[in-house]
Amino acid sequence: VISVENIRKSYGSFEVLRGISTEIREKDVTCIVGPSGGGKSTFIRTLNGLEPINEGRIRILDYTLPGWRKETEQLRRSVGMVFQSFNLFMHLTVRENITLGPTAALKVSRDEANARAERLLDRVGIGNQVDKYPGQLSGGQQQRVAIARALAMEPKIMLFDEPTSALDPEMVKEVLEVIRDLAASGMTMLVVTHEMGFAREVAHRVFFMADGVLSVDADPETFFASPKDERHAAFLSKVL
Ligand code: ATP
Ligand code: MG
Repeated sequence: VISVENIRKSYGSFEVLRGISTEIREKDVTCIVGPSGGGKSTFIRTLNGLEPINEGRIRILDYTLPGWRKETEQLRRSVGMVFQSFNLFMHLTVRENITLGPTAALKVSRDEANARAERLLDRVGIGNQVDKYPGQLSGGQQQRVAIARALAMEPKIMLFDEPTSALDPEMVKEVLEVIRDLAASGMTMLVVTHEMGFAREVAHRVFFMADGVLSVDADPETFFASPKDERHAAFLSKVL
């Protein structure tokens, strides 16, 4: 469902993505790991058009990037994204956060949007928090609201950028559990993460990205047991 053909991106004279090509199959969970500054966030943001690319082409679902603005807006409705920092609307309740996209962008009725919000909050284990404000919730609860908000758009693909990095350790598990359930439901997902245990258990494929290059693409067992080069080995020795 995703095909990336030799994409490049620079900030000024600094090349962040240096020719990345890959294919992602439907229902696959792909974890992207690698050292800080390697281009992981930039890469997944290019997939839903949040970061324009300078060269190459991306085909995702029925869309092509670079593409027309209207098409990119439609694409973004089909590709959910969850960030490290939750990015919830703090002045809106949990219910309002989740119903806003479906009612405004998808023209779903208010009743249907409410029903969807309640169903999704139950699914992420916080059905009783619907009328609270994000500021009244723990980090783990806020991140689960952010996941429910993305799911309310009924995306075909979900992108996660370090969804647990801003959380206190005791909240990491509850959020990973939600992502794990989503994987089990057959959602196509890309997850940038530092949680190697999660990658090992849940991913179908693991990518290693460093210096703007996707240098390793392997099944988790191979990825963690047989480093492909020195850079990969050095990374594994630090995180395992
Ligand atoms: P981390 O693990 O720390 O999140 P990352 O692999 O996600 O790192 P990116 O955030 O994609 O890395 O950044 C890759 C490089 O691009 C970094 O050197 C960063 O400083 C640079 N960069 C990112 N965004 C910008 C920007 N808007 N302008 C200039 N440089 C940027
Ligand atoms: Mg990042």
